Amino acid sequence: MTYYDTIIIGGGPAGMMATISSAYYGQKSLLIEKNKRLGKKLSGTGGGRCNVTNNGSLDDLLAGIPGNGRFLYSVFSQFDNHDIINFFEENGVALKVEDHGRVFPATDKSQTIIGALETKIHELGGTVLTNTEVVSVKKINDLFHIKSADKAFTCGKLIVTTGGKSYPSTGSTGFGYDIAKHFNLSVTPLESAESPLLTDFPHKALQGISLDDVTLSYGKHIITHDLLFTHFGLSGPAALRLSSFVSGGEIAELDFLPQTSSDDLHSYLNENREKSIKNALKNLVPERLADFLAVDYPEKIKQLSPTQETQLVDKLKKMPIKITGKMSLAKSFVTKGGIDLKEINPKTLESKKVSGLHFAGEVLDINAHTGGFNITAALCTGWVAGSVHY
Ligand SMILES: Cc1cc2nc3c(=O)[nH]c(=O)nc-3n(C[C@H](O)[C@H](O)[C@H](O)COP(=O)(O)OP(=O)(O)OC[C@H]3O[C@@H](n4cnc5c(N)ncnc54)[C@H](O)[C@@H]3O)c2cc1C
Repeated sequence: MTYYDTIIIGGGPAGMMATISSAYYGQKSLLIEKNKRLGKKLSGTGGGRCNVTNNGSLDDLLAGIPGNGRFLYSVFSQFDNHDIINFFEENGVALKVEDHGRVFPATDKSQTIIGALETKIHELGGTVLTNTEVVSVKKINDLFHIKSADKAFTCGKLIVTTGGKSYPSTGSTGFGYDIAKHFNLSVTPLESAESPLLTDFPHKALQGISLDDVTLSYGKHIITHDLLFTHFGLSGPAALRLSSFVSGGEIAELDFLPQTSSDDLHSYLNENREKSIKNALKNLVPERLADFLAVDYPEKIKQLSPTQETQLVDKLKKMPIKITGKMSLAKSFVTKGGIDLKEINPKTLESKKVSGLHFAGEVLDINAHTGGFNITAALCTGWVAGSVHY
């Protein structure tokens, strides 16, 4: 049985960064990943370009992590989003910042990020074992015993970075919660977060249209961000964020033009009375959406009755959208709930009940918005969990 100082189970962003810091601090470290390659879920973020972090302030980070972000104060004081940016730049990865502070590799390729993390692990002498699923974890005296189907290892320190339960096809099937159960640790209820919304809105006509910075609201919950019409309803950050406040049956309101008032829209229509409605709307919204909005009206703006004109402006400013449900946990972007933070030391991410056992990333009861906030939480908790050595 080969001994390692530290074994890390799960090669997502949390596990890769934990291996890097562990190896950096001189620990003989082994990262075990069941997939053929590291970072499968990470590679699909940011539309396949890898939304590696967010360049906001600490306040922005905390606002972007509605699920227990405050637990991360101590973690961020040790390693934060700016350290992530420095880390990649020092390791030869050029980054760029897009809207809402989202940071991507300049190459627009996830592999640039995953490759840099992997190279660093090797450079620091860490070992990576892919295609290897851990099936059992035990602690006997001071040593953890880790088994896969055909291999066995021991270690003094174990870091669990197996992710949540969303998108299980990427490998996050919830094994970390089994480890918690084995050690009698509490796991808070698992729920979907950042879930695409199901709606009864005409899907076919609008499918594929993506809108920048529209306002989607339900009651006091008002979210201005990008939105995507899909074959089932709505996705994109605005819909994903609203999903925390709805369950199905609600009527949400969509403002396609939050920067323009209803009065300004009436003036715009009046100034363009000779134009067709479709052409006038095409200057304001994507063409397919303009066609959809204009369908019930006469051809020209000047043919609109005052009531019709008000109706049209209302459609642009407060289109009602009935939410019929939201995607299941498996099809949501993030898992809410996880390893109970009351039992975790916030400075070291070590279990208060089992010494030497650490957790990092989405397996913890932490959930964030897309936009780089989950990945930031994963990379920063990974670094901190890896940096503790005995
Ligand atoms: C489609 C999609 C888009 C997203 N977009 C964004 C975004 O834009 N911004 C953002 O911040 N977040 C985004 N997220 C969420 C983000 O990707 C995750 O929060 C993040 O990857 C969690 O990192 P992690 O290292 O904790 O877990 P994961 O990335 O899930 O990695 C866990 C790893 O553990 C491995 N593993 C599990 N069990 C075992 C075992 N028994 N043995 C060996 N290995 C095991 C898995 O195979 C997996 O590789 C998105 C998620 C999805 C699904």
